Amino acid sequence: MSQVRKLVAGNWKMHGVASQLSEALLIAQSLAQTPAVCRVALCPPTTLIHRMSEVLGDAAVLVGAQDLHPEVKGAFTGDVSAHMLHDAGAQLVIIGHSERRAAYRESNDLIAAKVATALHVGLEPVICVGETREEREAGQAVLVVESQLAGSLPDVLDAAHFAIAYEPVWAIGSGATPTIAEIEAIHAAIRAHLVRRFANGASVPILYGGSVKPDNAAAIMQAREVGGALVGGASLTARDFLPIIRAAG
Ligand code: PEP
Repeated sequence: MSQVRKLVAGNWKMHGVASQLSEALLIAQSLAQTPAVCRVALCPPTTLIHRMSEVLGDAAVLVGAQDLHPEVKGAFTGDVSAHMLHDAGAQLVIIGHSERRAAYRESNDLIAAKVATALHVGLEPVICVGETREEREAGQAVLVVESQLAGSLPDVLDAAHFAIAYEPVWAIGSGATPTIAEIEAIHAAIRAHLVRRFANGASVPILYGGSVKPDNAAAIMQAREVGGALVGGASLTARDFLPIIRAAG
């Protein structure tokens, strides 16, 4: 697992207008001076994908989307297709974030369809799984995550480039995090699932997400089977995101 290149991805959620592109530039400038050991990505709101990819040019920062529609095209007012995201400059896409699973009742089947569509146009999917607090307290965390993996990872992922993000719902935006042992236990279960199902299962990065900050990033990155981080709030500024990127090395 140590040979897997880590991925540190920022999820800006519904934050950011053109003036915040300066933060992306600051990150790119720092990485130009001192290249990161890990891969780095920023997933701004859809409205900024094109401008961010233009501003970043060939900088060592991938640009990603936060969601996509499972259909290739059609009468879906307000939605955005995989091809449109790719055309705008996105290289990867977050799929099945818990905020979408909860607020839009996204099912595993829908998420699997989105993953297949992303792969079809060459977007690297970052597929999110994670248990609620109630599920953890009931001792169901591993079961819940395994069933999300079973339902939301289509077989076409075999040999494809993709990443999994383990994000306990209760840790997102809360300041709370699991212990390192708890993170390692879930990541080990995810790795076992990936190895069982996919030819490249041993090398798929498994990111941890949920209140990753500059002061806890190093410990989390060193945990067994942690292949990087999906970062929300702390990815909005270069001041917070850069130390997390550096901690991955
Ligand atoms: C997220 O929403 O994916 C996330 C990890 O958020 P935060 O880092 O703010 O907890």
